Amino acid sequence: MNARKTAAVLAGKATGALSRVTRRGGGTTLPGDVARAIDPRILTRLTGDLTQGSVVITGTNGKTTTSRLITHLLEGTGKKVVSNRAGANLIFGVTAAALDRAGADGKLRADWGVFEIDEASLPRATREIRPKATLVLNLFRDQLDRYGELESIARKIEKALSTQSTDDARVILNADDPRVAEIGLNLPNKPTWFGIDDEAVAARQLPHAADARTCPRCGSSLIFDAVYVGHDGVYRCPNNDFERPIPDITASNITLDGFDSIAMTIKDTRIALPLGGLYNVYNVLAAYATACALNLDPTYIAERMKTFKAAFGRQERIDMRGRHLILVLSKNPAGFNETLRTAVDLANGTSFVIGLNDRKADGTDVSWIWDVDFEQLARKARLVIPAGNRAPDLAVRLKYAGIPAEKPQTDPAKTIDALIDHTKEGDTVHLLCTYTAMLDLRAELATRGWAKPYWET
Ligand SMILES: [Zn+2]
Repeated sequence: MNARKTAAVLAGKATGALSRVTRRGGGTTLPGDVARAIDPRILTRLTGDLTQGSVVITGTNGKTTTSRLITHLLEGTGKKVVSNRAGANLIFGVTAAALDRAGADGKLRADWGVFEIDEASLPRATREIRPKATLVLNLFRDQLDRYGELESIARKIEKALSTQSTDDARVILNADDPRVAEIGLNLPNKPTWFGIDDEAVAARQLPHAADARTCPRCGSSLIFDAVYVGHDGVYRCPNNDFERPIPDITASNITLDGFDSIAMTIKDTRIALPLGGLYNVYNVLAAYATACALNLDPTYIAERMKTFKAAFGRQERIDMRGRHLILVLSKNPAGFNETLRTAVDLANGTSFVIGLNDRKADGTDVSWIWDVDFEQLARKARLVIPAGNRAPDLAVRLKYAGIPAEKPQTDPAKTIDALIDHTKEGDTVHLLCTYTAMLDLRAELATRGWAKPYWET
């Protein structure tokens, strides 16, 4: 029994209980701060209690959905899984999640840890958690003011993955992402590669906001034979010094049905899920590849996937006075382009609320909205309401995209009022929002009784 560990756990848990009582946003990270102040090694000690080990998931987009998928797969085997929630993906949030499941004796009572980790925190996380498997989904440009360039993050992740202390640690990487591929090609041990193989869902050209169009080795423009999501696709350098690694696990024969469902073939088995958009094919494929790396049976994985439900806000449906609201988190150019494409082309969306906030979790520099192809809305949108505390900036961007938008709404209550005014029963409305803009609108919907507060979902 380690007295310092027990003291750190009890102090952290007391803080968590207190912040939940005072309802300070679900109390997601403060207990982690408190426990780490008492015992800086608390996360290593707690994850050391896990009977099976940990899985760490990083990448710009898709972390939450993929973590939920992996958790769902592991839980289906009868194991207890601890995971961090609600965007608490810095080291303090992970510590808080582990504390929450620790008993009065200071011991973490779970078999698996499934933790989503912010890209910049990955080196610290792998050092402290010593995961059995680490998954890197993609590296897109995100929140410019918080991070340096993609390359510097890629180098940090590469260093973290090549210096892991456990010899049998597995690494699962997206072969279709040039920046992720470069990391994997430099590792001492071969990772598990996953990628999409389906020409039918590919675009021929990169979106104008794509941010990894050059070869990481010689700087030449990469040639893309297929573009799937953002800069993820099938690529090669004209100088033959770099190309997409051949995936070990692929998804093919993909069918997309708006935000309702996707289906694909992985290892000769058809897998269908109630998730929407090509970007979710990557999340499913990544979860599948990770589960295989953890020795789960492929037939079991395919069956279990069917019973998955989407995480809050990533793709949530709420009924509000007969209107069908579809809430989709959209937090950077690559993510926005994909959710817009899915809403417009696959779900035939015509009514939209676009929410933009500039708080720390959203990125305080909102200039990235100029890299989003809002022009996609021009063809079909009938109603577009700019919302969030930076709604006026968004209105300017939409004007330049030729979209006749409604008056910008910075107040969540007025946004919902405007939405009710401009729509009628039976209408479907897509709410595409940055992280805290989503929380604000969701909180307003919860206040009016249409959605549950997020810490109760
Ligand atoms: Zn090159």
